[in-house]
Amino acid sequence: MKISLNSQIFLGALLGILLGLLFSNLGADNRITQNGLYVSELIGSVFIDLLKMILVPLVFTSIAVGVANLRVHQQMHRVWIATLLFFVSSMAIAILLGLGAANLFEPGKGLSLDLFHNALQHFESKQMDVHEFIRHFLHSLFINPFAALAQSNILAIVIFALFVGIAIVVGGNRYRNLLVLLQEILELTLKIVAWIMRLSPLGILALLAQLIANQNLALLASLAKFVAVVLGTTFLHGFIVLPLILFIMTGKQPLWFLRNAREALLTAFATSSSSATLPVTLRCAQQRLHVNTDIAGFVIPLGATVNMDGTALYEAAAALFIANLTGVELDLTQQLIVFATAMIAAIGAPGIPSAGMVTMVMVLQAVGLPAEAIAILLPIDRLLDTLRTLVNVEGDMVGSLIVQKVTQQPRSTV
Ligand code: ASP
Repeated sequence: MKISLNSQIFLGALLGILLGLLFSNLGADNRITQNGLYVSELIGSVFIDLLKMILVPLVFTSIAVGVANLRVHQQMHRVWIATLLFFVSSMAIAILLGLGAANLFEPGKGLSLDLFHNALQHFESKQMDVHEFIRHFLHSLFINPFAALAQSNILAIVIFALFVGIAIVVGGNRYRNLLVLLQEILELTLKIVAWIMRLSPLGILALLAQLIANQNLALLASLAKFVAVVLGTTFLHGFIVLPLILFIMTGKQPLWFLRNAREALLTAFATSSSSATLPVTLRCAQQRLHVNTDIAGFVIPLGATVNMDGTALYEAAAALFIANLTGVELDLTQQLIVFATAMIAAIGAPGIPSAGMVTMVMVLQAVGLPAEAIAILLPIDRLLDTLRTLVNVEGDMVGSLIVQKVTQQPRSTV
């Protein structure tokens, strides 16, 4: 009997969770746990390395080819507008949900800061205000493309690839060969992605086993209410709000979407990195969700660094949590500042594990909360990062389907 890759990935995730539970039951000193975790670490990191290996050529070619083809068909400006509108509005909804839930359930109220004395003492935060953050962000957009490619700086690669795509179209027939070459490299990289995906059930199994085995249960229990509010609201956004928006805008059934997006969703959950998941997301969008290659090639890589619903929601909820913990009441104006800075912080966060924690410093400082307080959240971040990365990646796929629908692009294949 042949099991489909989609089901293998699902089984891998289930087995990984069970194995992680077994390891944590046996205890960290047990030989089986130690050897098991060692092997999981090896397999998990090879899987992520493979995804990262293919990421840069894939992002560059998919954006350049996508933009070149869309411009030829005069669609580019509509795709731009629809994409940015969707990114901003879905993140705004996510932040409102995060703020709403944090106001309703007030996590952190009644908890004593003394509980976290140790974490706070051993933490030095890097200061970052909004102005500096924006300047830094703008500065990182335009850099030497070879440096960007070598450092896997996705946002700078996206920008350079946009220029190349537009220049190919403006040059017309002159650069026809270059376009064909880029198209062939794109096809070739997608073939390699398909090979890497054969390893994904095992990679996901290994990553989840490690994740579960390494959780600090006592710490989780002390922050249980906050964890429940964040996970619950992120779940609501990912499994009710986004599928509902998709259904209203395109008529696509939520179950159809979740089934076909599963490979990318589980990879995001296990890796906690939108960037590492990008090759899988692109493959899912094109091959399973039937998004036009050019639209997916533009929306998905851009979304992987810019569109982060899960992160935006988290930044807002966590800021209110820290306010409660430190006994500060945030009034409406201050919550509006949290709204705006959480959006900027999510846009600016790169798609790597725990990136949202780093950019959250800016949100806290904007309303005068102590940046050091993120030390309290860092130990549980790996767990929370799973679901918010899943929702970040989901938002990109939903976005590509909606952009396709509203710009009415018929499907084409590479
Ligand atoms: N890990 C998230 C991502 O890659 C970013 C974050 O830390 O919120 O999408």
